[in-house]
Amino acid sequence: MTTLTRRQLLGALGAGPLIAAGQLSSPRTNAAVTLQPFSLTDVRLLDGPFLEAQQRDEDYLLKLEPDRMLHNFRVNAGLEPKAPVYGGWESVKTWEDIRAHGHTLGHYLTATALMYASTGHEEMKRRVDYIVSELEQCQRAANTGLVNAFPDNTAQIENLVAGRRATGVPWYTLHKIFAGLRDAHRWCGSTPARRVLVKLADWAVATTKDLTGAQFERMLAVEHGGMNEVMADVYLLTRDPRHLALAERFCHKAVLIPLSEGRDALDGLHSNTQIPKIVGFEHLYQITGRPVYRAAAEFFWQTVTGTRSFATGGNGDNEHFFPIADFPAHLGSAKTMETCCSHNMLRLTRLLFARNPTASFGDYYERTLFNAILGSQDSDTGMMTYFQSTRPGYIKVFCTPFDSFWCCTGSGMENHAKYGDSIYFHGTAGGGRRHALYVNLFIASTLTWKDNDVVVRQTTAFPETGHARLEIVRAAARPFDLHIRHPAWAATAAVRINGGGGETSRARGSFISLRRGWKSGDVVDIELPMAPRMELLPGTTDTAAVVYGPIVLVGALGHAVKPGEDLHVNERTIGTTLNEPIEVPTLAGDLADIPGKIRPTGEPLTFKTDGVGRPSDITLVPYYRTAHQHYNMYWKVRRG
Ligand SMILES: [Zn+2]
Repeated sequence: MTTLTRRQLLGALGAGPLIAAGQLSSPRTNAAVTLQPFSLTDVRLLDGPFLEAQQRDEDYLLKLEPDRMLHNFRVNAGLEPKAPVYGGWESVKTWEDIRAHGHTLGHYLTATALMYASTGHEEMKRRVDYIVSELEQCQRAANTGLVNAFPDNTAQIENLVAGRRATGVPWYTLHKIFAGLRDAHRWCGSTPARRVLVKLADWAVATTKDLTGAQFERMLAVEHGGMNEVMADVYLLTRDPRHLALAERFCHKAVLIPLSEGRDALDGLHSNTQIPKIVGFEHLYQITGRPVYRAAAEFFWQTVTGTRSFATGGNGDNEHFFPIADFPAHLGSAKTMETCCSHNMLRLTRLLFARNPTASFGDYYERTLFNAILGSQDSDTGMMTYFQSTRPGYIKVFCTPFDSFWCCTGSGMENHAKYGDSIYFHGTAGGGRRHALYVNLFIASTLTWKDNDVVVRQTTAFPETGHARLEIVRAAARPFDLHIRHPAWAATAAVRINGGGGETSRARGSFISLRRGWKSGDVVDIELPMAPRMELLPGTTDTAAVVYGPIVLVGALGHAVKPGEDLHVNERTIGTTLNEPIEVPTLAGDLADIPGKIRPTGEPLTFKTDGVGRPSDITLVPYYRTAHQHYNMYWKVRRG
C-alpha cells in the first residue's frame, strides 16, 4: 500500500485541507450534474430480450425465500430463525474465509426494490417490507445498530476496526445491507428501511470514531464495496455531516491519489474491489465538488475502458487487473471478466454520463449492457455467470439457484431488474429555458416524463435490426430538444421526422439534436447501419473479435450440453468443468478484408464466414444469446 505523508496527501489533493467532520457547511448537491436520470417507475420495457430477461429475473426472485436469507441475521440477534439457511457463500465452510454471509439478503433487497420500481408488482414491495421489518426486529434485539449474518457475529468487524488480523471482507458484505436498505427506501418509500439504515450508519460512525486517519486508511486495504457511496447516500437523506465525513473517510487514498494524478497503478489490483470505490468518488464529487474525486473517477473510467477492457466491456482475469501487454497471456483463462465488474462499471458510467452527457459514455454503456449483462443470464434457467470466459472454446458456466450465492449471483439479481434506468435522461438547456430529452439506448420501452407531461414510446427490434422508432404519444405544451445518440460504431445515423425530412449525422459518437415543437403522434425514425468489423484484442495485432454494431459475435462451436448441466456450485472450480478439448478454428486473410467475408445467414444476427475459416468456415452468433455450447470470442488471424 502506498504511504503518503500528510504534506504529500494535501499536495496531491490540490484542493486545500481535507474538510473535517462537521466543517462542510453548504455541500453543493448535484451542482455539477447536467442531466437527470428518470425514475425506474417512469420507464416500462416493451417486448424484447430485455423484458424477457427482466421476467426471468423476477421469477427467480419469487423462488427465493426471505426467511432463509434472514436465518443468520436472526441467530446473531438472539432470535429464533424461521427457516434453514441457504448454502454456498451464505453458509458453507468452503467460503467461510470471505465472510460474505448475508450479502445475498442485501442484494435481494436491492433487486426486489428495483423490480418493484420497474414493474409495479406488489409482491416485490411486500417482500421488501417484510425483510425490512425483520431487520428492524433484529436491530432492536441486538441493540447496537448493527445487523449482520456473519458466522461469528461481530468478531471480524471488531478485529478489522481494531487493526487486528481479521478474516474476510466484513465491510464489503455490510455494504450490500446498507445498499439494500437504501434501495428499499428509495424505490418502495419504506420509512422503516430509512430508520434501520440510519441506525446502521450511526453504528458505523460510532464504531470507527476513534480511528486515526492512518488507521482508517489501513482498514481500507481490505475490500469494502461501495461504503463511500452508500454513506454519501445516507448523508443525502439525513444531512448529518457525520455521515458525509464517514463517506469521505471511506475513500481509499492509496487508490484515490494516483488516479486523481492520472497515474494508472491498477496492475495486479483486485478489480471489483476498486470499481465501487470509484463509483463513490464520482458520487462524492457530485455532492462536494472536490476536484480530486472528479479527476480520479474520470481517469479511472478512461484507463479501464480504453486499455483494460475486452470487446464485451468486461475486464480482468481471475478478478484482477493486468498490464495491457499481457492480454494475450490472459486470453486462455476461464476466469476472465467477472460479471460484478461489468455491473459496477455501468454504475460508474451512468453517473459520469449524467454529469457529462457525451456519447462515448453511452457507447460503453450500450456495449457492456448488450453483451456482458444481457449475456450473463441463461435464458433457459435464469441463472447468472460469474466469470465470462475468453478461453478459446470454453462455455458459459452459471450459478445454481440455491447453492451458490456468489457475489455475481447477487449483483446479477440486480442487473436484470433495472434495464430501464439508462435508456432516457432529461435535463435543461439554454440556461434552463429549454427542456431536453436524451435517448441513450435503443431498447423497446415507454417513457412517461411526468414533469413535462410527455409520453414517448420507443419501438425497436434492435439489435436484430438497426432501426428504432420514437413516437410522441403525448406532447408537452412547450417544445423540448430531443437528443438521440449516434453511436461510434455506426458510420451514419439517419433521422426522419413523420416519414419526411430529417437529417443524417456523420459524426460518429455524438448526439443528433432535434429542436422543435412536438405534437402528439409525431414519429421519429432512426436508422443505424450495422456492419461486421474486427476489434483487436488489446496489446495484439493479430487477434481480434468480430463485432456487429455493438454486438460481439462469437463462433458457435457446438458440443452442446443440456440446460442445467452448466449450472455450477463452486465458482473457484470454473475452468475445470465442461472442459473437454475443443478444436478452435482460426481465420485466414488480411484483417481488413475479413469483415467483407462475413455473410448474414438470414437468421437474426447470425453470420457465416465465407472461405476464411480454417479448417472450415465458422457460424457466428451473438455472445449475449450464447449458452449451453462451446464458443470462441477472439480469433487468431493468419495471413493467406
Ligand atoms: Zn462477482
